[in-house]
Amino acid sequence: MNNFSYARVPDVGGAVHEIGTHKAAKFIAGGTNLIDLMKYNVSRPNHLVDITRLPLNTIEETPDGGLRLGALVTNAETAYNEHVEKRYPLLSSAILAGASPQLRNMATDGGNLLQRTRCYYFYDTATRCNKREPGTGCPAISGFNRIHAILGTSEHCIATHPSDMCVALAALEAVVQVTGANGERAIPFAEFHRLPNDTPQIDTNLHADEIITAIDLPKQGFAENYTYLKLRDRASYAFAFVSVAVALEMDGETIKEARLALGGVAHKPWRDTEAEGLLSGKPATRDNFQKVAEAITRDARGYGHNTFKIELAKRAVARALRQAAEGTPQPIAEKKIL
Ligand SMILES: Cc1cc2nc3c(=O)[nH]c(=O)nc-3n(C[C@H](O)[C@H](O)[C@H](O)COP(=O)(O)OP(=O)(O)OC[C@H]3O[C@@H](n4cnc5c(N)ncnc54)[C@H](O)[C@@H]3O)c2cc1C
Ligand code: SF4
Repeated sequence: MNNFSYARVPDVGGAVHEIGTHKAAKFIAGGTNLIDLMKYNVSRPNHLVDITRLPLNTIEETPDGGLRLGALVTNAETAYNEHVEKRYPLLSSAILAGASPQLRNMATDGGNLLQRTRCYYFYDTATRCNKREPGTGCPAISGFNRIHAILGTSEHCIATHPSDMCVALAALEAVVQVTGANGERAIPFAEFHRLPNDTPQIDTNLHADEIITAIDLPKQGFAENYTYLKLRDRASYAFAFVSVAVALEMDGETIKEARLALGGVAHKPWRDTEAEGLLSGKPATRDNFQKVAEAITRDARGYGHNTFKIELAKRAVARALRQAAEGTPQPIAEKKIL
């Protein structure tokens, strides 16, 4: 472990100032990812800015009828919040499909967006990795890549983004509120995370001096017809091979609007609005769901150990769409534990 200094800040202005005045500084919130990365020597900040006392821990209505989740609200508080459960059950389901109750009690909403990939090579400092050390190579491409991406990959990195919460936020078209030295800005969720291209070391479009202050949920919550389907090695405490967040607006048996986001398959939650558009104004039939499943995976590429994910993704998309259309979302196995 490297030496580092530590400062706790009382307000957002202080946090932005503190991060801007130290070269290799990092914010720390719940610490559930950052502390692991520091122990593995993958992340080596020389200064930690503790943001846990910032007044960003409330969930509030927004003037346009949506909901604002403070960046420091925990994943557990978010999932069990009465407004989220009632109006955005897709988000509650996705959060509760992730990690464990203990982790969700510590993990914050802001931190969840910025958790890093679970690629084995990224965590192993004895191996090469373009994300950890740019220009060294990507052993996953020809190596053990069972958990890796099938969409949006590059010759430099095939890592996936591991979050469940972010998959639901992508389908809901959330907006990330951030503050930096140049003031505040709002980042649409689709533009928040990046594909690896030739800069896999950069996960998001957040600037180095910016802090996430909140995540805004638009008014439309798709509370009637939704599902979050997560497929993984075991039913709890495992990251997704493939996950699917579906949000439908139905008019009887006809689909008015369809939103679909996939997790576990790309460097960011994967949306394909062209494929979603195939369902607009169409009846909710197995044939139509299969067409979307084929369309969404048309450019998918397997790397050997992860090739099974292409068929898995197709089946998951078709099943998730069926569950959402029938109004029978995936049951949430875990009981309320705060
Ligand atoms: C064993 C294990 C299993 C897990 N399983 C799952 C799973 O199945 N699904 C899933 O989705 N997640 C899973 N997680 C990940 C977990 O959800 C994340 O670790 C957590 O959400 C990160 O939040 P945090 O507050 O602890 O972030 P931290 O660890 O404190 O920070 C993570 C990163 O975000 C930055 N950061 C934090 N807050 C802000 C902010 N407001 N503004 C700017 N930067 C910020 C930090 O600088 C750091 O770089 C698992 C984690 C563990 C350890
Ligand atoms: S997939 Fe990405 S994170 Fe994993 S070894 Fe390759 S470059 Fe590193």
